[in-house]
Amino acid sequence: MSATHLVILAVALLVDFASAGVPLPRYEALLKQQSAPSDPTLGLYDDGDKVIRLSVDNFNATVLDQNRGALVEFYNTYCGHCRRFAPTYKSVAEHLLPWSEVLIVAAIDCAAEENNGVCRNYEVMGYPTLRYLGPGFQPGPQHYGQSLHTQDINEIREILAGMVAAENLTSSHNNSYWPNFHYLTENDSASSLFEGLSSVTQYVAVVHEPENTTLGVEVALFMTQWPAVSVRRVIDPAVAAKFKIDPTNLPISLVDRKGEIMAYAPESTNGESYAKKLWDVLGKKNITPRPVTVHQPSATPASKIKGQNELIDEVHRNKHFVYQADLEQAIRTVLHNEVSKVGEISGEKLLALQRFLTVLQRYNPLGANGHQLVSKLKDYVVQFNDKLTGSQFEEELKRLEAHLSPVYSSTHFVGCVGSSPRLRGFSCSLWTLFHFMTVQAANNEESQDPLEVLQAMHGYIKNFFGCTECSEHFQAMASRRKIWSVPNKEEAVLWLWAAHNEVNQRLAGDATEDPEFPKKQFPAPDSCSECYRTPDSKSENLEIEWNKDAVLGFLKNIHNPQFVSRYGVQREELLHPTADKMRQKRQISSVFTDMDMRMGMLLYAFCIVMMVLAFKLFAFKGYRKKPYGHDLLGKV
Ligand SMILES: Cc1cc2nc3c(=O)[nH]c(=O)nc-3n(C[C@H](O)[C@H](O)[C@H](O)COP(=O)(O)OP(=O)(O)OC[C@H]3O[C@@H](n4cnc5c(N)ncnc54)[C@H](O)[C@@H]3O)c2cc1C
Repeated sequence: MSATHLVILAVALLVDFASAGVPLPRYEALLKQQSAPSDPTLGLYDDGDKVIRLSVDNFNATVLDQNRGALVEFYNTYCGHCRRFAPTYKSVAEHLLPWSEVLIVAAIDCAAEENNGVCRNYEVMGYPTLRYLGPGFQPGPQHYGQSLHTQDINEIREILAGMVAAENLTSSHNNSYWPNFHYLTENDSASSLFEGLSSVTQYVAVVHEPENTTLGVEVALFMTQWPAVSVRRVIDPAVAAKFKIDPTNLPISLVDRKGEIMAYAPESTNGESYAKKLWDVLGKKNITPRPVTVHQPSATPASKIKGQNELIDEVHRNKHFVYQADLEQAIRTVLHNEVSKVGEISGEKLLALQRFLTVLQRYNPLGANGHQLVSKLKDYVVQFNDKLTGSQFEEELKRLEAHLSPVYSSTHFVGCVGSSPRLRGFSCSLWTLFHFMTVQAANNEESQDPLEVLQAMHGYIKNFFGCTECSEHFQAMASRRKIWSVPNKEEAVLWLWAAHNEVNQRLAGDATEDPEFPKKQFPAPDSCSECYRTPDSKSENLEIEWNKDAVLGFLKNIHNPQFVSRYGVQREELLHPTADKMRQKRQISSVFTDMDMRMGMLLYAFCIVMMVLAFKLFAFKGYRKKPYGHDLLGKV
């Protein structure tokens, strides 16, 4: 038994003692102040953004059966790709704000549990997903809106313009702002242009639209806030000429009610530039647009959690700790959000869910009620050979949780807390859960399959993980790193560690990185200096030469249930039933082998004997050397 083991054993006893009896009052206060993970305010868009925030409460009323269309982004707060795309989407909303009488730009956070039903009904398979829901839209089987397969702002604008122009508005969805998208023909003239228009319309803007573009549609949409102007498209150069248009040099003109025509040259060939030219000209004529209004449902903007700095300090102090709260949050989010959100769970998905629940049942970090929950849920899922739906799963999950309540000892992230509510969280906790399970598997004889946890993880990430980009990267990495050839359970622990470090390296400095928790190779030298073979390899620039035995020992120690920190847990009593304690004791003894334990006891006994001997020796010597003892006793 090494000295490190002895120290760890002593610390374990202290931690155990502390967690058993000493309350953590400061924490209680912190947690009260922290928002719940499914809090809708944790989405990616704030009040200041022009993106309309949708939720289960306002989704139907805002986008179904309206007299205007909607671009809807289905996203997941914890998906890095969604976070990277958010600034672009905000720009799309800002850019298309003048179109808002005809098309709104909205978004719904599928990471918020309350939105599960909506995201499930729209068969969202990856994040972010952009869908156009036209005027009068009603969802139906195989009818979930039209997908936009681009994240480029110009392409989004052009595609939307095409979709809007192709709409055939029914009388029940009459919209007085809807532009007339019909092309002008040779029968049209300056005088006929105003036929049927209201007296408010003072000008008709004629726009030459090059073939296979949506330029005229875009100009018409950018002008919907200008009641004094109606826009018409013209494609035929001969017809355009009737309105003084020269497609190359003067592609737009304004016609007034007297039939006077004036042609103009915009700065560049795009819809916004054409519209800006018209805005300038109209401004000089003292004609103004209507103010644009965005009907944003009220919500508190996602702000920094109060007391969060203390929480972050605490986590920084214990950098490599694994927290019970994070393990629980991972499980809760997986069950409530990721699995429940899937429309149909069949084939490979069903097998992946069954495998995941099997390993979770075996290496479950929850307390007794949580053990029952996972076990019953697994029994429920394995009865299905063919398929089950996400809503069936969700219903059973909620029924079991109500029956077994309380199941979770905590409701918030601790080690995975981010410096802003939009950072870290679930994806951090999911890594933690899988590392935890690989270590428990390595310390447990129940299964001899070295791949059981990695296979369950692979299936889960492929079929359920809401970060589509992460899932694709992970699958590619798994085959490149030969996941299916991992020979034993300890190598499985190391495989996941190395794979995670590869992801850390790729994401270092990425926009999704939390500045408070920069992505570094794990473990850091100050957490485990023995994990580094040479002192030089601790330098950032050199390829690290790992001591894999030390890394394995370190990973086993930090994921040992006995050392999992209960900091921030509100219902610690749920984690202390006797069966749990016994299980933990068995697990700790498998990290410290029987031989380790015996050696420890021997060393302990040896130390006590030595201390007694030393004491006797000093006491005896002291007695003999006392110069005045005899005098005092009067024996000299
Ligand atoms: C399978 C998977 C694939 C992902 N792929 C992507 C992707 O392609 N693009 C993207 O933007 N995001 C991806 N993510 C998310 C990303 O990896 C992080 O989870 C997220 O950025 C939050 O990072 P974090 O700082 O909280 O630390 P995380 O990387 O989430 O780590 C969580 C905790 O695990 C511990 N840890 C760190 N490294 C290791 C290690 N090597 N071994 C053991 N423990 C470790 C640390 O204590 C750390 O705090 C993926 C997540 C998962 C679960």
